[in-house]
Amino acid sequence: MIRMQNVNLVYPTGTAALKDCSLEIAKGEFVFIVGSSGSGKSTLIKTLLGELAISSGRIEVAGKNLANISRRELPYFRRRLGVVFQEFRLLDEMNVFENVALAQRVVGVSSREKRRKNSLAMLEMVGLAKKLKAYPNELSGGEQQRVAIARAMVNRPAILLADEPTGNLDPENSWEIMKLLQDVHELGTTVLVVSHNEDIVNKMQKRVITLHKGQITSDARQGGYLQ
Ligand code: ADP
Ligand code: ADP
Repeated sequence: MIRMQNVNLVYPTGTAALKDCSLEIAKGEFVFIVGSSGSGKSTLIKTLLGELAISSGRIEVAGKNLANISRRELPYFRRRLGVVFQEFRLLDEMNVFENVALAQRVVGVSSREKRRKNSLAMLEMVGLAKKLKAYPNELSGGEQQRVAIARAMVNRPAILLADEPTGNLDPENSWEIMKLLQDVHELGTTVLVVSHNEDIVNKMQKRVITLHKGQITSDARQGGYLQ
């Protein structure tokens, strides 16, 4: 589902943020990306989303070689990826239902009834079917992140990328979010989670890829958090 071969990324400032990175992630895997601040985790996620062009090497995501992707193709490619961020990034002026339904309008689901059905199904999956009319500022952080997951999943992406999804949450809410990501994984989605949370990474016992100063220094099949 994801293949990086000898990827280098140098920012215009001269910082080499990814150095000779190679990895392969199969369909349906659940993978943590760990590493200290500045190790290149966000850069890696942005290259997978096609937001940053690499300096050399090769990246394939969901069957697409990102070097050959045109501006016109990019929106279609992005539909195959769901993204969740540390700071939720919901639209404050829209309620829970509208935040999720909008994601489908954006990708061109033209039937209103279909958008309604899909949105309700996703909000049910994340346990928020009773809060459709609430606005983000009326929700707890954990609830907001659940809405963000529903929004990321409503178009049924092949891959879910989560960048520090529990970074703003207390341990209890963090575990609820991890349980949800596990559910998403069980639906067959390939899940990539950037995390700083050692306790979570250690207890989940998933594949762990460690970045250090732009290099992949460890890739453990059922790993713990290494520094
Ligand atoms: P992480 O997500 O692991 O904290 P980043 O991918 O954000 O790491 O950063 C990796 C390195 O690239 C760091 O040295 C950071 O300062 C640098 N960097 C990140 N974004 C930019 C940018 N837009 N321009 C220049 N350097 C950047
Ligand atoms: P078409 O009408 O072209 O045959 P579909 O009806 O399968 O295609 O899907 C139209 C749009 O709805 C696509 O963008 C697809 O990603 C989206 N879609 C289809 N099924 C779902 C679903 N269960 N949840 C969310 N989005 C969906």
